Amino acid sequence: MITPKEVLKNFYGYDSFRGQQEAIIQSILKQQDTIVLMPTGGGKSVCYQIPAMVNDGLTLVISPLIALMKDQVDALNGMGIPAAYLNSSQSASEQRFVSEEIRSGKLKLLYVAPERLFGGAFPLTETLKTSRLSLVAIDEAHCVSQWGHDFRPDYLMIGRLRQELPDVPFVALTATADKQTRADIADKLGLRKPKWFISSFDRPNITYRIVPKRNSFEKLLDFLEYHQKNSGIIYCLSRKNVEDMAGRLQAAGLSALPYHAGLDRQTRASHQEKFIKDKVKIMVATIAFGMGIDKSNVRFVVHMNMPQNIEGYYQETGRAGRDGLPSDALLFYSYADVMTLQRMIDTPDNPDYSEVMLAKLEKMKQFCQSNTCRRRYLLGYFDEEEQKDCGNCDRCLSKDNKQDMTVPAQMLLSTIVRLKENYGLGYCVLVLRGSKSAKVQEEHKALTVYGIGKEKSEDFWKKLGQHLQQEGYLAEAGTQFPTLKLTTIAWEKLKGKKKFLLQMGEGGFDHQPTTVAYEEGLFEELKRIRFGLAQKENVPPYVIFSDNTLVEMAQYLPHDHDSFLQISGVGQRKAENYEDHFLPVIKSYAAEHLLKPKKKLSARKPSKSASTGLSKTELVTLQYQRDGLNVFEIAKAREMSLTTIEGHIAKLVKLKKLEAETFLSKDDLLNIRLFYRRQEGSFLKPIKEHFGERYSYFQIKVAIAEEQ
Ligand code: ADP
Ligand code: ZN
Repeated sequence: MITPKEVLKNFYGYDSFRGQQEAIIQSILKQQDTIVLMPTGGGKSVCYQIPAMVNDGLTLVISPLIALMKDQVDALNGMGIPAAYLNSSQSASEQRFVSEEIRSGKLKLLYVAPERLFGGAFPLTETLKTSRLSLVAIDEAHCVSQWGHDFRPDYLMIGRLRQELPDVPFVALTATADKQTRADIADKLGLRKPKWFISSFDRPNITYRIVPKRNSFEKLLDFLEYHQKNSGIIYCLSRKNVEDMAGRLQAAGLSALPYHAGLDRQTRASHQEKFIKDKVKIMVATIAFGMGIDKSNVRFVVHMNMPQNIEGYYQETGRAGRDGLPSDALLFYSYADVMTLQRMIDTPDNPDYSEVMLAKLEKMKQFCQSNTCRRRYLLGYFDEEEQKDCGNCDRCLSKDNKQDMTVPAQMLLSTIVRLKENYGLGYCVLVLRGSKSAKVQEEHKALTVYGIGKEKSEDFWKKLGQHLQQEGYLAEAGTQFPTLKLTTIAWEKLKGKKKFLLQMGEGGFDHQPTTVAYEEGLFEELKRIRFGLAQKENVPPYVIFSDNTLVEMAQYLPHDHDSFLQISGVGQRKAENYEDHFLPVIKSYAAEHLLKPKKKLSARKPSKSASTGLSKTELVTLQYQRDGLNVFEIAKAREMSLTTIEGHIAKLVKLKKLEAETFLSKDDLLNIRLFYRRQEGSFLKPIKEHFGERYSYFQIKVAIAEEQ
């Protein structure tokens, strides 16, 4: 029998499991019903695909994402895993062919939409009676809950399937679920004493930004300029907005296409395909788009309008950076959008549902208006306590870049108070600047604040108003016309005569560059080769290799079969199929640029000879370590403190006597190192604070040992 680890290495080309993957797989293999909550990009698929390979028989995968099935199946077949799908997009003869394959027992994984379970021309439950099922996996499991944001009534039928298949374990997976939805998943699916695996929902590689929706198009162009070479999604509220935006971007010379439900099926499919295959960079879409795509190198997600709830926001922004490389989420916020959504949601036909959704909307508004770290707020929403600010959102990044705006802030705030908090920003500014406009009521012309702000432009005051709002000193209220009110913290500041320090330079999207050192020119060439292969095979490029895998090739410059296999994401099948396409290019690039292949850490055997730079006691630790003891056991055996042993290990890693990957997965290493390289100085504490409980000090020390 093949082990999970062997499947991971031989088929996927990965060296180690990530996070809780291994434990989840073990739980499934023990026939336990299992529930997996893991953020997008966390690696959920592996959790059921590997048991599918280890077990005899067929694994049934229920997914609402018909558009995604073909790509998922192509990806599996590309790795040498026999998989197929059944859905309404196939012809009767295609469906019959798949049913035959199921009967023949050749398949390991079968993807189906929930409505196919009991309905359709070939009710699946009939076909399945003749085959041996080893596992049922339910993807996007939150769809079963009507308290979730994405309810699919067909999912309720899965409960019946659970009853009909008493001997088969079920695993439910989702990337988003609040408390109510979580409870519903276990309940509505009828899972039996499920074992829960809840991963952190943090996506450390995504930088969250929320900016006021003023001059939004110019701000957007700025942002896209920074992302010139990258793929991304821009979400708009309506079909019309989508069309307009796509048109404006095209007029500005950008590679963009629209996507919304009003386009005919063929156009939609062709636009989506162009995006997935990197033929067009920007997809302008309604939120209908993205559910069905699994493109790992989406570098940015923009919301031109505020989403209805945090689940939606989290899920949509989560489509950025699935490959773990630094990515951006940008949202344009306006109170007018809040009111539009309120009207949309507040329907009399289902008052309970409206109430839940309105409460979710309120949270979303608070999130946009709050002046705390975005990530902390998000994680808090998903019940993860995060004590520290993240250092990688607009709030955190702007903290050190503030100006003293005390005097003008006091002027604006007192105008608002004199106007009894009954007006919007535009009107307050008219009064403040002493406008002669007929719009200004006579009684307001008599106020002491009338005209005190003449010296500064209208633009300045509006910007200031928005900043005060963004930082939580002003809140908008009112249902028809937004009016401005001072918040408690604004009153406290005024009373305490404290300074208003505001970050006024908005809109800049300056970044630290991606810091993995690789040959960019080669990377571009490898992408071209991948593109050609993808076209020939009619699959998305990531099905051939992910960006991450190409980055590693451009970093380590593999020169033969063995070193090619060392690259993360290169399994047996892919090495055989593709090495003749990639290796010659890498070799000639290396020759031309006088570069030598670099050894991958995992390929490097620890050197046998004791060498300089190590003390005796460190060598003893090394010996124990090689004998297979972990740090705790070594500390115990040597009657030394854990910190001391950890110090030895870090030094051993630094001097390349041990591999960092013994202690952390490659992804975790990359994560920590990326963050470390962005820092000034070599302090551990900010790193620890950034990642919180995710990594121990020891793991961080090991990860950065070689960098110091
Ligand atoms: P999710 O379904 O949770 O969004 P995926 O299953 O699509 O995530 O995985 C995201 C990416 O991470 C994929 O490219 C996948 O191949 C990769 N991946 C998954 N597990 C590992 C692992 N153990 N090591 C390296 N990469 C992994
Ligand atoms: Zn932050």
